[in-house]
Amino acid sequence: MSAHDIRPGRLTPQQIADNYDALQPPLNDMQAIHEAARCLFCFDAPCTEACPTGIDIPGFIRMISTGNTRGAAIRILDENIMGGTCANVCPVEELCEEVCVRNTAEDKPVEIGRLQDFATRHLFERGIQPYSRAPDSGRHVAVVGAGPAGLACAHRLAVLGHRVTAIEAKPKAGGLNEYGLAAYKMLDERAAKEIEFILGVGGIEIQTGHALGSDVSLDVLREVYDAVFIGLGHNAVNALRLDNEDVPGVYNAVDFIERIRQEDLATLPVGRRVLVIGGGNTAIDIAVQVKKLGAEYVTMVYRRGEADMGATWHEREVAQTNGVLIKNWAKPVRILADGEGATGVEFEYTRYADDGTLEGTGETFALEADMVFKAIGQHFEPGPFAGSEAPEMDRGRIAVDALRRTSLPGVWAGGDCVAGQDLTVVAVQDGKVAANSIHEFLTEPTHG
Ligand SMILES: Cc1cc2nc3c(=O)[nH]c(=O)nc-3n(C[C@H](O)[C@H](O)[C@H](O)COP(=O)(O)OP(=O)(O)OC[C@H]3O[C@@H](n4cnc5c(N)ncnc54)[C@H](O)[C@@H]3O)c2cc1C
Ligand code: SF4
Repeated sequence: MSAHDIRPGRLTPQQIADNYDALQPPLNDMQAIHEAARCLFCFDAPCTEACPTGIDIPGFIRMISTGNTRGAAIRILDENIMGGTCANVCPVEELCEEVCVRNTAEDKPVEIGRLQDFATRHLFERGIQPYSRAPDSGRHVAVVGAGPAGLACAHRLAVLGHRVTAIEAKPKAGGLNEYGLAAYKMLDERAAKEIEFILGVGGIEIQTGHALGSDVSLDVLREVYDAVFIGLGHNAVNALRLDNEDVPGVYNAVDFIERIRQEDLATLPVGRRVLVIGGGNTAIDIAVQVKKLGAEYVTMVYRRGEADMGATWHEREVAQTNGVLIKNWAKPVRILADGEGATGVEFEYTRYADDGTLEGTGETFALEADMVFKAIGQHFEPGPFAGSEAPEMDRGRIAVDALRRTSLPGVWAGGDCVAGQDLTVVAVQDGKVAANSIHEFLTEPTHG
């Protein structure tokens, strides 16, 4: 039993494929109609209020119940062009389904996410394109970052008749839909198919491999285009600031998650004993996914208590049912390493001091590991604005008003690079709100 036991093929390709299958199978026609019949079609529906994109949930569910699945999908996509992805990745237990009036001790909420998946899947599988462009407005907008925020903004602008050029640093568009969301939530190349659908409306060009900052500046974009939308997401990861943080065997969780999304799972090397440092959904995602690749022992260590964890109860349940051990009240103080790489982590127990701050108790323990993942958060770093007039910032993110306008005239922003919940559905809403505001700006009589 050697240290540094990191290798591919801990499970057979078939076992890995089975492990990465959907958490819940899609609803079939009968199941969808049966589930839709459970909806009480509330007036002033709380679920619609709780959905960040304001989807008319009773409206689309009623359409499913009457057999108009195509209409249901369009009703969803009109408000949320990534309704297919959101159906599978939204934390519904904290959004629409949490407030469903059937969510009581004796009953359970209507499965809104699965019904949304049923409707959007119906449309995509039939290759139906319900959107077309309004006559060309002669206006041209730059979108920086082709993640959910940028793509949602681009689609709405294109439908309204404006031309869009999206500048994307990575080789593929999609942002974290393509590179970050858990592979078992994004089956059947959902991200790529959704982009194909979005681009199907016409009028959107995506320039991949082009970065704001190194290839083009914000000043130039503002000069060349009629408006600019910034959807840069989080572009930096938080560091532990411990010795040995860069030795082999220590990874940023988001980098490895990207490999899980992009590489052949059967050939991806994984450790026998894995430690994950962090308590949010990214920590859960890496822990669950390496377990599904065959890691034998996976332990998540979080410095505060269960109630403080960023990961939802549902995500924690997924981790625990997949055999991940979650340990609270301990913080890493040293990454242990030999000449070849990480061998484990030394932790110190923690507690709340009388003044409410977190303090170490002085008592330590060590856990052995072949792989150590850092999952303590990401942030926005304003480097891409260097050399240009930059928008005002607010607590490390780009400051925007309710219409997602920045402090710079003609520049809007949305998604993870502005304040708010870091969720796909929130990024989509930001892009949509910004596009409507950009449209108003471009079509007002005083503009150019
Ligand atoms: C591991 C992980 C799991 C997650 N799981 C969930 C989940 O289950 N459910 C959920 O709702 N949310 C989840 N999220 C959050 C969700 O993915 C984000 O909130 C959402 O993707 C934000 O969209 P965005 O468009 O703002 O940013 P991003 O998706 O990050 O897109 C930003 C885009 O900008 C590009 N870019 C960056 N810098 C430049 C530059 N200088 N020039 C040009 N382009 C640039 C990037 O390459 C990227 O394509 C998860 C996040 C992570 C990290
Ligand atoms: S987009 Fe998300 S929050 Fe909104 S209705 Fe669909 S699953 Fe619920």
